[in-house]
Amino acid sequence: MRGLRLLIIGKQGSGKGTLCVQFAQHFGVPHISTGDAFRAAVAESSERGIRAKAFMESGQLVPDDLVMEIVDELFVRESLRERGFLFDGFPRTVHQADLLDATLAPEGVDAVIDLEVSTEVVVARLASRRVCSNPNCGAIYSLKSPPKSPWNCDLCGSPVVQRDDDREEMIRRRLDDYEAMTAPLVDRYEALGKLIRVDAALSPDEVFSRALAELLTRRLANETGEA
Ligand SMILES: [Zn+2]
Repeated sequence: MRGLRLLIIGKQGSGKGTLCVQFAQHFGVPHISTGDAFRAAVAESSERGIRAKAFMESGQLVPDDLVMEIVDELFVRESLRERGFLFDGFPRTVHQADLLDATLAPEGVDAVIDLEVSTEVVVARLASRRVCSNPNCGAIYSLKSPPKSPWNCDLCGSPVVQRDDDREEMIRRRLDDYEAMTAPLVDRYEALGKLIRVDAALSPDEVFSRALAELLTRRLANETGEA
């Protein structure tokens, strides 16, 4: 039997990273970050990596066809068709989603979990985030859970600061871009009956158990439906 094919989408600050780790462990499928795959291709200086690097360095988005070439290579190298996968940060556009479905024809992906959280909740979460300024440490704190001695890192003693990226104005701009890009993607999977919406304002454990319950209910329904 082949492994589960799952996508998780959600704004930055929706708790996507945590949920991806939980799901990948639960189902024993590889957790694939396309961002990491790109960086690896660039580091290996493969022909595709060199092409991707040119776009990344000039601040442009890597074109869909090149993204898909890198993803297709991963599919072959890691046997993802058979093993299943959890993609984090991919697809980002409807066109990428179409290409992914073509690769996985005829079934496509099994489910897409959309972590729904309001801009206000995410802004509050991210704006309260503080990080250790030591690049080799990177410990994360928040106004609610500060380091023991204010504001020096518990692990390495370096100053704990707010990232420029985490200032409210920057956060709102990123969220607007994200919304514009992913709304059509959400609609696409909804129309295919593959979308699972979860309220990401809940605690991480609750988000995981609700998403899991919904996913299992659907899988069961599908298997019964096909039998
Ligand atoms: Zn530190």
